[in-house]
Parts: sequence; structure tokens; C-alpha cells
Amino acid sequence: MRIEVKDLAFTYSPGTPFAKRALDGIDLSIEEGDFVGILGHTGSGKSTFILHLNGLIKLQSGSIDVFDIKLVPDKKNKQDLRKLRGTVGMVFQYPEYQLFEDTVEKDVAFGPKNLGLSQEEVDRRVERAIRLVGLDFEDIRGRAPFELSGGQKRRVAIAGIIAMQPRVLVLDEPTAGLDPYGKEQILELITRLKKECSPTVIVISHDVDEITRFASRIVVFNDGRVAFDLPMNELFRRSEELAAMGLEIPRAVRIADKLRARGIDLGDVVNADDLVRAIVRKFDKNNMDETDIAKLSAAQFDFGSGEAFGGAGGEV
Ligand code: ADP
Repeated sequence: MRIEVKDLAFTYSPGTPFAKRALDGIDLSIEEGDFVGILGHTGSGKSTFILHLNGLIKLQSGSIDVFDIKLVPDKKNKQDLRKLRGTVGMVFQYPEYQLFEDTVEKDVAFGPKNLGLSQEEVDRRVERAIRLVGLDFEDIRGRAPFELSGGQKRRVAIAGIIAMQPRVLVLDEPTAGLDPYGKEQILELITRLKKECSPTVIVISHDVDEITRFASRIVVFNDGRVAFDLPMNELFRRSEELAAMGLEIPRAVRIADKLRARGIDLGDVVNADDLVRAIVRKFDKNNMDETDIAKLSAAQFDFGSGEAFGGAGGEV
């Protein structure tokens, strides 16, 4: 089973002086179980694309198959749309702004209730979702969302989506606006949700260092088109073309490239874990165990401070 997008094009305000072509000739196939990162500069069409995936934008041309649900232009099938919305869960940017009920429990229950499930099933799903996002169900269920911290609110909003048990989870810039600790927590959460809730995950991000930590595939959007859909090690050899699209290559790749230029070839590296593993393999086969690797990896990911690798983070 897969998501298959063929020749998708979309224009905002067509036929008016404000017409804006946002997508043009998108062909994309996503297998069930994929962990896809969608990378692209602001305005490249990422959001317009994902809005199509659960029918929030009416198809103008092309076709989209989401497993056994087929979308084509001018097809009016409310049942398909309903099924689609239950299949593809969408976590928008700053989803906490959409919390509106007076208790966490009611907010998380909103989606599953609309699926027409029994009260018993709704209750079961709400509890499971709240626990899955790492919150203490008994403590938080009766609290008002506005009392919670930013990170907690975001978790509650995500719980509201996964309580619908979507087969596909789509997240638009899920770490936007969070501090480094909050970001880390959300990234761990996404990995857990993929394992325990929604096997297919699509994440929009403009942060290449973040996206390469979890995604197994990256699709690059540029100017309403799929610019690259390559294995990551090949993608990051295209640094000049990516730069022309306003995108960087991951820091770990830049470090590996610098080392290669100095005669140290670490092989294929796309993220911090790869980099650390490659260094350990090359220089210290015997003296490091998995815990040390994990520590090193965590430390070197603190690139923002520029302290990792003795300041190399700031230079590369
Ligand atoms: P991204 O998510 O990559 O930032 P978008 O899909 O939001 O890109 O936007 C793609 C293009 O469509 C941009 O040029 C943007 O200005 C335009 N666009 C987005 N939303 C609208 C809208 N509601 N009306 C008109 N143009 C829009």
C-alpha cells in the first residue's frame, strides 16, 4: 500500500490577477512505513502539497491515491473525504493555538468523537493518546490547556490527532518555536509515534540537521516542484544546487567533507550519529561502547553553541 501522487498542480486564486501557481507537476510515491522529510525554502509549496493529502485543498489537476482512497478533480465523494481525514492525521504549525476546550481530556476527545466512535472507545483512545505523548494522564486530564507549558500544550495537540489513530501522520514544522530541550522531546516523540501509532510519517522542515536525524528519505521542494528525491548520501553531494535553493547541507556532512579534504575519508555520513560512528570506527574500534557513542553523538549535536568539536561547529 502506498500514497501515489501524479502530476499534481495547484494555483491559488486561478483566473484572477492574483493567480499564484503553488504546485506544478508533482509526482511522488510514498510507501506505507516510510519516514519522509519534506525540505524546502519558504514558499516552495510544501504546505500546499500536504494540505492536499487530507483533502483540505480541493484537487485542481492530477491525482492522489492514499492507499485505497482515490482523489481526482471534480469528484465529490464525502465518504472518501471522511475516510481520508481519518487516515491522514495533520499536525499543523503551532498546533497548540488550536486547543479550545476547557479540559485536556475534552480537547483530545474532539477528533475521535467526530469519527462517530462509542464513548467507551473514545475514552480508551484519549487515555492511550495522552500517555503516548508522554503526559501523565491522571494529572493532566482535567486541567485547562492554557495552564500548561508550551511543550505540554503541543503534546496535547498532537495527542488530539493521534487519538484518531491515523495510518499516516503529517507534521508541519513540528519543532517551530520550541527551545532546544523541547525540540529534542518532540523529535523523540515523533520517532515513538511512528513505532507505536502511525507507521507512515511525513514531516515538513526547513532544518536539514533536524530532518536528517530521523527521516529515512528526503524530498526537496523548490518553486512548486520536486527538485530532488534522491538517497540522502547522493542528495548532499549537490551542495551548490541546494544552496541555490536557499538550503544548506547538514553540518555532519560539512564536517565529513572537510575531513575528506584533509585526507580522512569517513564514507557516507548524513547525520551526527553517522559521523560519530564513522569516527569511532575509524579511530577507536576497541575502546568505545554504544553508551560512549550515544554520549558523543548527543554532545556533538549541541552545534548551536559552537562548542562541539572545539568550536568547529561555528566554522563549518
Ligand atoms: P511553503 O509551505 O513551502 O512555505 P506554500 O505552499 O505555503 O509554501 O506556498 C507556495 C506558494 O503559494 C507561495 O508562493 C505562497 O506565497 C503561495 N500561497 C500560499 N498560500 C496562498 C494563499 N492562500 N493564497 C495565495 N497564494 C498562496
